[in-house]
Amino acid sequence: MTAETDLKLHIEKRPESKLPQVDFSKLVFGQVFTDHMFLADYKNNKWEEPKIIPYQALAYEPSAKVFHYGQAVFEGMKAYKDKDGNVFLFRPEENFERINRSAQRLGMPPIPKEYFMEGLKQLVKLDKEWIPTGEGESLYLRPVYIAIENAVAASPSTDYRFMIIASPAGKYYVGDVKVKIEDKYSRACDGGVGFAKAAGNYAAQFYPTELAKEEGFQQIIWTDSKEHKYLEEAGTMNMFFRLGDTLVTAPTDSSRILPGITRKSIIQLAEDNGVKVEVRPVTVEEVIEGAKNGNLKEIFGAGTAATVLPIRGVKYKDFYSDLPQLEDSYADRFKKLLMDIQYNKTEDPYGWRYPVK
Ligand SMILES: *Cc1c(COP(=O)(O)O)cnc(C)c1O
Repeated sequence: MTAETDLKLHIEKRPESKLPQVDFSKLVFGQVFTDHMFLADYKNNKWEEPKIIPYQALAYEPSAKVFHYGQAVFEGMKAYKDKDGNVFLFRPEENFERINRSAQRLGMPPIPKEYFMEGLKQLVKLDKEWIPTGEGESLYLRPVYIAIENAVAASPSTDYRFMIIASPAGKYYVGDVKVKIEDKYSRACDGGVGFAKAAGNYAAQFYPTELAKEEGFQQIIWTDSKEHKYLEEAGTMNMFFRLGDTLVTAPTDSSRILPGITRKSIIQLAEDNGVKVEVRPVTVEEVIEGAKNGNLKEIFGAGTAATVLPIRGVKYKDFYSDLPQLEDSYADRFKKLLMDIQYNKTEDPYGWRYPVK
């Protein structure tokens, strides 16, 4: 298909684009999908020829294993357009490696690198007109990998399907976000699947998050399942705490925390911009003490969807504190540094931008 690989990719174009029907001023995150999708099946112990087809509903038998055993993993990433119309992905090889780590943990065969990379590239190229160009806007990309063997037996599927879909995303806006530190439910445990972008991890968070919402908190910060003593991460974001002028975040070498690419990038940017970073277990106690004595200056989340999300207030058991609104916050600073690289507004000394040509 391209000069770089000899991957055969069959492309079936949609006769007429849906683009004129979309109101880009009213985009709700993850609700509208582009004209095309990428699809590749794994059967009889091998990958079949991949294809790009019009985005469409697909039929699955009720016995498909994904419905029964949740053998499903996904990724989340974005394509960005600069002011001249050049298109970039951000560190896509990291997503590739991560989806295969997730897949391995769920007993699924690895996705070939050229399927993942070429699939993304060709899909983004084909649906390039769908990338919005306003401030903070992008094309959200969702690779998803599922078990499709028709059999109700609790064992790994023989057949799989890997797909990529794309959704134009407006500037991320959720209003003020207050978080509840969870001390009853857990998201992940040692030796479990917390580090994987496994579909079931998210379903397991919905009920406790609904309870938190009823109390007026939009997100939960999860704590370790053993003692509820250490802060881990939120539903789809890693967490940073600014204690004094030090940025602190939990390590991801346990199997419990998802190693975010945004997190990894912010750690690098902070270190290179003279901010002291500590990657270490963060106790609930030190953060709550900090909220009481003023040492806690900021909490923010980091993830692809929001990039950086400042937190306005934090609750733990009966304690609640608003967080100070700083003029020169680390959240704003690192968000700008990161987005300037993503949108090709600045040099990229790290080689994080990945041009889609
Ligand atoms: C995807 C995700 C993140 C953020 O990862 P990024 O690579 O930065 O988008 C953090 N935590 C969880 C649980 C996630 O699913």
